[in-house]
Amino acid sequence: MIDFHCHVDLYPNPHEIARECRERSLRLLSVTTTPSAWDGTSALGGGTIITALGLHPQLAHERKGELPLFDRILPGSAYVGEVGLDEAPEFKTHWQDQVDVFRHVLNACNEAGGRVMSIHSRRASSPVLDLLEQYPGSGTPILHWFTGTVGELNRAISLGCWFSVGPAMLKSKRVKDLVMKMPRERVLTESDGPFAQLGGRSILPWEVGVAVDALAGCWDLDPGLVVRTLSENLSKLSAGASIGSEA
Ligand code: MN
Repeated sequence: MIDFHCHVDLYPNPHEIARECRERSLRLLSVTTTPSAWDGTSALGGGTIITALGLHPQLAHERKGELPLFDRILPGSAYVGEVGLDEAPEFKTHWQDQVDVFRHVLNACNEAGGRVMSIHSRRASSPVLDLLEQYPGSGTPILHWFTGTVGELNRAISLGCWFSVGPAMLKSKRVKDLVMKMPRERVLTESDGPFAQLGGRSILPWEVGVAVDALAGCWDLDPGLVVRTLSENLSKLSAGASIGSEA
C-alpha cells in the first residue's frame, strides 16, 4: 500500500508511526512543512519511507527566510513537498508571500533538473496551475487533495499532473466524481495524516486502505487490482525521480 502524502513528523509519536509503516511495508512520502524540519524528519525515514523537502503555503509568510536553507538541501532531495498555494480566507492575507515562495521553489526545482513535487492547492487550483505552466521544467507535480473544478482538472491533466487521493476527500460526492475523471495511471493514495480525520480522530498512514476501497468503487475494480495499479504507478513515478542536475 501507498501513502504518498503524510506528515509523519507531526504525529505525537513519530518514531512509533514510522516503525509501524516500515513493518507494514507501507511505501510512504513523508512531507515536511519547513526546511528546518528536514533533518529531524529525514531521521524518521529510510526503508519504505522517503522524505520530501517542503515549505507549506500556510507558513510561507513566517518561514520565507528559510528559502536559502531549502536551496542548500534541494540537491540531496529527489522529492519536494509540501509546497503550493492556499487561498482560504485566513491565509489569503499572506498571498504575495505564498506566491513568492512557491515561485522560488519551482524555479529552484527547474534549475536542479526537476523534482517530484507534492502540491497543496486548496481553493487555489487555477493559480497553482498558472505557476506550474510557467515552470514546465520544475518536474512532476502531484496535486494532493485536489478539489478543483472539472475544467481545472482537465487543465491539470494536460499539464502532466498526478493526483494523490485520500479517504477524507472521497467522502464528497462532487470530489468522487472528479476522482473518476482522473487518469488511473496518474493516481496514488495518501493519508495527509495527522491533519486528515477518520472517524473523528487523526487518520493513521496505513488506513489509506479506505481510499483503495473507494477507488475500487470508482473504477469498478477489485481492491487487489487497485493496489496493483497504484503500485505500478508508483514504480513508474519513482523511476523518473532523480537528483541529477541538468544545470
Ligand atoms: Mn498535508
